[in-house]
Amino acid sequence: MDDKLKAAMAAQLAQLRNDYLARLPAELATLQGLGAGLSGGDADRASLDELHHRLHKLAGSGGTFGLAALSAGARTLEQRVNGWLAGSLDGQGAQAREAFSAALAALGETLTGADVPPASVAQARGAVAAPGKSTRVWLVEDDVLLGEELGRQLGSFNYVVRRFTRIGDAEHAARTERPDMLIMDVMFEQEGENATEVFALHPNLRALDCPLLFITSMDDFQSRVRAAQLGALGYFLKPLDVPRLVSRMTHIFEQQYAPAQRVLIVDDDSDLAEHYRLALLAAGMEADVLQEPVAIMEKIAAFRPELVLMDMHMPTFSGPDLAGVIRQHDKWSSLPIVYLSAETDLDRQMEAMDRGADDFLTKPISDAQLVAAVRIRIERARHLDEQINRDSLTGLLKHASVKEAAAIEVIRSRRNGKPVSLAMLDIDHFKSVNDTYGHAVGDVVISSVAMLLRQRLRQSDIVGRYGGEEFVAVLPECDAGHARLLMEDIRQRFASLRFSHEGKEFNCTLSVGLACSAAYPDSDGAALLVAADEALYVAKRGGRNQVRERKPA
Ligand code: GH3
Ligand code: MG
Ligand code: MG
Repeated sequence: MDDKLKAAMAAQLAQLRNDYLARLPAELATLQGLGAGLSGGDADRASLDELHHRLHKLAGSGGTFGLAALSAGARTLEQRVNGWLAGSLDGQGAQAREAFSAALAALGETLTGADVPPASVAQARGAVAAPGKSTRVWLVEDDVLLGEELGRQLGSFNYVVRRFTRIGDAEHAARTERPDMLIMDVMFEQEGENATEVFALHPNLRALDCPLLFITSMDDFQSRVRAAQLGALGYFLKPLDVPRLVSRMTHIFEQQYAPAQRVLIVDDDSDLAEHYRLALLAAGMEADVLQEPVAIMEKIAAFRPELVLMDMHMPTFSGPDLAGVIRQHDKWSSLPIVYLSAETDLDRQMEAMDRGADDFLTKPISDAQLVAAVRIRIERARHLDEQINRDSLTGLLKHASVKEAAAIEVIRSRRNGKPVSLAMLDIDHFKSVNDTYGHAVGDVVISSVAMLLRQRLRQSDIVGRYGGEEFVAVLPECDAGHARLLMEDIRQRFASLRFSHEGKEFNCTLSVGLACSAAYPDSDGAALLVAADEALYVAKRGGRNQVRERKPA
C-alpha cells in the first residue's frame, strides 16, 4: 500500500473508532440495566445469558478499538457471569450481585476523557433492554384501579412497571431516569386538557427517547393525528385489550432488539478485509474474515453468517468458485452471497452472478454504503426466513422447524455433555373458549401463550407452535430441575392473566409435559418429543393446570 492510501485508511479507521465510541455509552447503560435487574434466583438465567453475550462482544470489540482496560474489564466480568451460569443461581448472594453491578458501572470509568465523544446523553437514551428482561415501563394513568390492574398484568409478562398517577411526577422522574417504554393516558381529569398537549408541555418526558404508547377513551381523529405527530407507536382505546397492548409492546421491543447481523468477509487483501470488518463492527454488526479459503464451510458452520461478502478475484480460488462450493450444501443454498469487487465489466459481473451469488457491489464503496447495503439485504433475508418458517398468528416456529431444532439440540447435547429439556404445552379446555367467546378470542389466548414463552425464555431457547393450541419449547443446556422451575413459572403467569370479551372476563390454564435428555441417554429428538407428549397426557389426566415430567420406567 502506498503512503497516501495508508493515510486515508488511518483517517477512516479513526472515524470508525469514533462511531464505535459514540455507541459505547448506550451499550454500557444496557449492561448496567441488565446487572441491576438481577434478583439472585433462577429467573436470572436469561439476563445472565444476555450479559455473557454482550460482555463477550465488548471484550472483543474494545480490544479492536484500542480500549485495552475496557476489554480486560469486560473479559473478567464475562468470566464471572460464566461461573454463575455454570453453577446454581440460587447460591448467588446479594453482596456478589452488588459487587458485580459496581464492577459493571466501573467499566465506563476505564474510558479516559479523550475516549468519550460528546453528546453521549442522547446515545445513552437509545439503549434498550432485552425484551421482557427487566424491561422498565412507565405507566402514567390517573385512574388508580386501572393502573394497578394493568401494572399487574404487564408484570406477568415480565415488565417492571412504575406507575404514576400524576404526569408531573413522571416529568420529574424523567430528569434523572429513563424507562424503556412510556405508556400514557391521554385524558387527565386533573389537568383538564388534552394530554397530547400536556405531553408537549413536559419537556423531560418529551425528551425521553423511548417508545411511546397512548391509552385513551378519546376516539376522535384530531387526538389520533396529534398522537401520531408526537411519534406514538400505539393508540389503545379503553376498555383496554391488554393482550393486544402486550403484543404491540413485544413487537416494538423485538424490533429494537434484533440480534446483531452476522457477516462473513472473504477477501485476499487482508488490510481491506480488516477495514470492512471494522466498518461493520462499528455499525453494531458481527463480522468475521475468512483466513483460509479451503476452510470456508467449517467457518460458515461455526460462525453462521447471514451474508457473505465475497471478493471476485483472489489468487488461489475465485469468488465464483467459493460461491459454487457454498451452494453445493443444501443448508446454505439460500445464504445471501454478495460480490464486492473492482470488476466493472457488466458481462463478467453477470457471469459471476450466474454462479450462485445474489448481488454485486463495486469497489470503491464508502463505509456507509457498505453498511446500508449489507443491512438491507440481511433484513430482507430475515423477513423471508420468517415468512417461510414462522407461524403467522404467533410468530413462533412452525411444527417442522421446531421438530428439526429438537433433533439438532439433542445431538448437540450428546456431543457437549450438557442436558437439553423439551417442554410440550397445551391450553386446557380450549375448545370451550372457542365455543363460548368465539374463534377470534381463542386466537388472542393462543398468542398470549406465545408472548409469555418469548418473554420468559432465553435467546438460545427455541419455541414453536406445534399444533393448534399446542406449543413446544426446546431448552438447550437446561436440566430437568431448571426446566420445571421455568415451566412452573410460565404456568402460573398464564393462569393469572385475565382475558375479556364483551364485558365478560375469564381465565385460562395450561398443562405442561417435560422430558430431559439426561433421563433418556439413547433417545433422539423425536423420541424425546414423544416422552414430553406422554408427560403432557399425564398432566391432563392429573387434573390439568400442572407441570409433569416423564422419566423412563
Ligand atoms: P384439553 O384440556 O384436553 O387440551 O382440552 P381442549 O379443549 O383444549 O382439547 P382439544 O385439543 O380437543 O381442542 C383444541 C381446540 O383448539 C380444537 C380447535 O378447534 C382449536 N383450535 C386449533 N387451532 C386453533 C386456532 O388457530 N385458533 C383457535 N381459535 N382455535 C384453534
Ligand atoms: Mg388443549
Ligand atoms: Mg390440543
